[in-house]
Amino acid sequence: MLAAFSYARLRRQNSTMGEDLEKLKQRLPLLDYLRQQNWCGRPAGQGTEFVGLCPLHSESRPSFYVNARKNLFYCHGCGQGGDLIRFVELSRHLSFPQSLAYLQPQRVRGDAADAREQAVVFYQQQFPCHPEALRYLERRGVHDPALIEELRIGYAPGGNLRRHLTNQGYSLESLQRDGLVNPQGGDTFYRRIVLPCGQGREVVNLYGRSIGAAFPHRFLPGPKGGLFAWDSVRHFSTVILVEGLLDLAVLGQAGFRNTTCAFGTHLTPLQFQQLSEPPVRGVYIVFDQDENQAGQRTAHQLARRLAGVSVPARLVELSAGHDPNSYFVAGAAAADFAACLEGAQPL
Ligand SMILES: [Zn+2]
Repeated sequence: MLAAFSYARLRRQNSTMGEDLEKLKQRLPLLDYLRQQNWCGRPAGQGTEFVGLCPLHSESRPSFYVNARKNLFYCHGCGQGGDLIRFVELSRHLSFPQSLAYLQPQRVRGDAADAREQAVVFYQQQFPCHPEALRYLERRGVHDPALIEELRIGYAPGGNLRRHLTNQGYSLESLQRDGLVNPQGGDTFYRRIVLPCGQGREVVNLYGRSIGAAFPHRFLPGPKGGLFAWDSVRHFSTVILVEGLLDLAVLGQAGFRNTTCAFGTHLTPLQFQQLSEPPVRGVYIVFDQDENQAGQRTAHQLARRLAGVSVPARLVELSAGHDPNSYFVAGAAAADFAACLEGAQPL
């Protein structure tokens, strides 16, 4: 009698645990978890299988397979296999209950800056897993891994941020309110190179540059913040102001560390205030040379406004309608650009 009762209770406990386990595994698919841990897997043949280097043993040729539909992994190198919990047990050296506790959702989070920071980290993790992102940057002359890391450049493939952040405990409502997720419930950024717009230590917005056919520039709703990486540029006696991220990146690679970017030609009041804050620094303005002269006109207006607050500004002209990015992609060297700076006339 007693034995039968205990058995029934055990079975009930097991089935409750089984349901929780299934919920946990649905909430956090194995493949998502592995990608959060920086695992890069490429599709293996047809269907839902992926292969990559085994995170559980050291190897140079990929033998770690993940079946995304079955939510299981198997490594032909070390012979380990199983589900998400098994993977956590093996990779973190935890017991079964410890692994479950480890995977429990974190507290409900709501802070928008915190969510943006998590999104930046996630997009940075995605970047090496998507060759199209690297190819795009290479085409645009950006190839220095240290710079990519320093600028915190990431990639939004689209379709996986929402689940990642809700798994981390952010509510869908808060993600929609802050714009990381659109009103339809999808990721706002899709096939975009992404980088953070910061103000001090806080990520105040995300800039997304399309690598496809979509409108090239996009921000999340809300202010775009100050000049890019102003804190690391403000101490220079001269600064170079460019329009875009790719301009900034090629100049950074060429050694012009005093470059900042306004994400466009129209400066926000905060950005203007930063350029004109003491101590006085010279400003080289290198905006795109537009055929209709729009860029040149805006640059000229900005130079006059800066002169009005006693900030010496110079307009830099690159040859043949180039912007800094296309100038370097076309083969210019640091010395060529330095000569352009040299030749820039004060207003
Ligand atoms: Zn292995």
